Amino acid sequence: MMSIVQKLIDSLGKECVLTHEEAAQRIASNWQKAGNLDCLALIRPKNTEEVSIALQICNEYKQPVVPHGGLTGVSGGVHTAPNEIAISLERMNQIEEIDEANQTVTVQAGVILQQLQQILAEKNLLFPLDLGAKGSCMIGGNIATNAGGLQAVRYGVTRQLVLGLEVVLADGTVLSSMNKMMKNNAGYDLKQLFIGSEGTLGIITRAILKIEDVPKSKNTAFVALNSFADTVKLLQLAKRELNNQLTTYELIWQDYYTLMTSKPSDYPPPLPQNYPYFVLLETFGQNQEEDNVLFEKFLEKSFETNLIADAVLAQNQQELDWFWGIREQVEFIFSIHKPVFLFDISLAISDMEVYIETVKTDLRRHWPEMYFYAFGHMGDGNLHLFVSCGEANHQTKLRVEEIIFVPLQKIGGSITAEHGIGVEKKNGYI
Ligand SMILES: Cc1cc2nc3c(=O)[nH]c(=O)nc-3n(C[C@H](O)[C@H](O)[C@H](O)COP(=O)(O)OP(=O)(O)OC[C@H]3O[C@@H](n4cnc5c(N)ncnc54)[C@H](O)[C@@H]3O)c2cc1C
Repeated sequence: MMSIVQKLIDSLGKECVLTHEEAAQRIASNWQKAGNLDCLALIRPKNTEEVSIALQICNEYKQPVVPHGGLTGVSGGVHTAPNEIAISLERMNQIEEIDEANQTVTVQAGVILQQLQQILAEKNLLFPLDLGAKGSCMIGGNIATNAGGLQAVRYGVTRQLVLGLEVVLADGTVLSSMNKMMKNNAGYDLKQLFIGSEGTLGIITRAILKIEDVPKSKNTAFVALNSFADTVKLLQLAKRELNNQLTTYELIWQDYYTLMTSKPSDYPPPLPQNYPYFVLLETFGQNQEEDNVLFEKFLEKSFETNLIADAVLAQNQQELDWFWGIREQVEFIFSIHKPVFLFDISLAISDMEVYIETVKTDLRRHWPEMYFYAFGHMGDGNLHLFVSCGEANHQTKLRVEEIIFVPLQKIGGSITAEHGIGVEKKNGYI
């Protein structure tokens, strides 16, 4: 029997198939930025038909395949073993249609999120998914992971932004539900099965996404608070008083804020470091003058009622980059501490304070010198935890996971909010 790689080359053409040696020139993960691809071959289809042919052949040879998007996933979902074939959507990178009347955009799966945002912005339109990896991650990967990100409190997660989907199943069958309508109850909504399925059910090739008008106003503030209860009250107040403009509500515990605003970090602290909690909040609206008044009134009221202890508003793009850098440059943690375990959990807002204290105390009991950083998308019940306890062997990993996951299970939380399962959780505690 002809080798599968030769068969793929014969059927799809040489430019579509990189051999083991050629693929080995490429990076294996944009997240870890370490190691090169070690796979049987890498297929780069340029349309749905080629994805279908590739999968038919792989199915015939009982060949395991791993879909690749922008390789920014942090759970090992793109890990490809030497006997596996990777299928990258990178050449399916066309924006096929921007439908302004229906406020939809039709894209191929390999479109990079930031490029889509930029092209839409030129037409005063917004695709409201936003995340730190936007410069590399692809729409197919965003859908496959049901990405959440920084604006989910206002616009929802990817699941809420997808109207239609085209997927190729493992045997090459093309399943199309390229629907533009918001309402469509004609049968099962099969696309939902594929959103968040991390490539286990099929390869996403095209999608129809919901878009919005680009916001004409933005207000961003860093605030300091004296208690967790105040962070909850402030979130409620922001939802009530800001005319549905609250777009981001990122909670940062003191340890992370101090790390990110102390040397060797490039960021000075916008607020003194001696508060237990900080929130980065942002609103999007349509009238800058009116929205400034609304936002300032909201902050004044928060001060007067002692909800916030201190606050600073971003006055220009430089300050916006500064504030957002403190929240988003998580890679900095990895430059300071090694090794680091990263967790992405979901839990009720009302459980967050006690849960974080419980985990911290337990970690410290085992590793008195450990480092623990917590922050995340509080507005949608999602926190990211970083643990560095000086060791990274498998037993340590299991012990840390036990400390993180057992109390989470007791309160009905989830071991993954937006990062997914990948292969990272395969040989883990759960
Ligand atoms: C700095 C940084 C910040 C991040 N912030 C966030 C955040 O705020 N919110 C968030 O949700 N995530 C975040 N992430 C994680 C990551 O960016 C997201 O999971 C993103 O959606 C992955 O997209 P990707 O194109 O890089 O997918 P990849 O990493 O290439 O793939 C991810 C998974 O999807 C599968 N897959 C990829 N493309 C397809 C396809 N076309 N069809 C079927 N399966 C496919 C892969 O097999 C893999 O299992 C962050 C990552 C980094 C590095």
